[in-house]
Amino acid sequence: MRTPIIAGNWKLFKKSGEAVELVSQLTHLVRDTKGVEIIIAPVFTVLSTVKPLIANSNIKLAAQNCFWEEEGAFTGEISPGMLMDAGCTHVIIGHSERRQYFGETDDKVNRKIKAAISSGLTVLFCIGETLAEREANCTFNVLRTQIEQGLSELAKSDLAKAVIAYEPVWAIGTGKTATDDQAQEAHAFIRGVVADLYDHTSAESIRILYGGSVKPENVKELMAQPDIDGALVGGASLKADSFAAIVNYL
Ligand code: PGA
Repeated sequence: MRTPIIAGNWKLFKKSGEAVELVSQLTHLVRDTKGVEIIIAPVFTVLSTVKPLIANSNIKLAAQNCFWEEEGAFTGEISPGMLMDAGCTHVIIGHSERRQYFGETDDKVNRKIKAAISSGLTVLFCIGETLAEREANCTFNVLRTQIEQGLSELAKSDLAKAVIAYEPVWAIGTGKTATDDQAQEAHAFIRGVVADLYDHTSAESIRILYGGSVKPENVKELMAQPDIDGALVGGASLKADSFAAIVNYL
């Protein structure tokens, strides 16, 4: 049995006052939710502000990125150990916006994943094809390469600390969700790649989230797909009522 995860990626939104307001509303709205792992990923500067507010709640804390070195002369970076120190349990790695705007290659993603996991964080590892890649029928090749390279040298025992998020780039922030069938097809493929790289048991245990314009109106159908184990939510995670409605999709 794979426990579903609903994770909110706040991206570059919410200063401390707004973050406090959102989290205060959210803890109240999801306080009775059971059977779903709830994660929020605020910006770095409010992690420590948010942490005490969720301390006695069922909400876990994620960062949106990290570096692979633990410390050193790396101006502007934040290490996995520092995220643990700030109270994070999770970190998003390889989001398409980081790949697109910040030069994050599969190799960098791989280094970050290995460093984060060895520091004790659970990684939400993002993959997904662009519209051009889908139209050129390259989706499966792209996904396979991203998984093979992203998880390269990751031991089977470490895979328990990894969650994969399938986020077709063309569905992110566009209002255009993959159809349930498109998402399920990709998720089943991803699970198959994990089985090829590791084994059947690992593939059956790993959670694969869907991301890309998830909202209260479409979450239920997506979650009904056999290989969809949760959602990574951007825009709809910025309002307590819509994120809570997604969390409480059942
Ligand atoms: P969206 O973003 O829900 O706004 O499409 C998802 C994501 O980028 O994680």
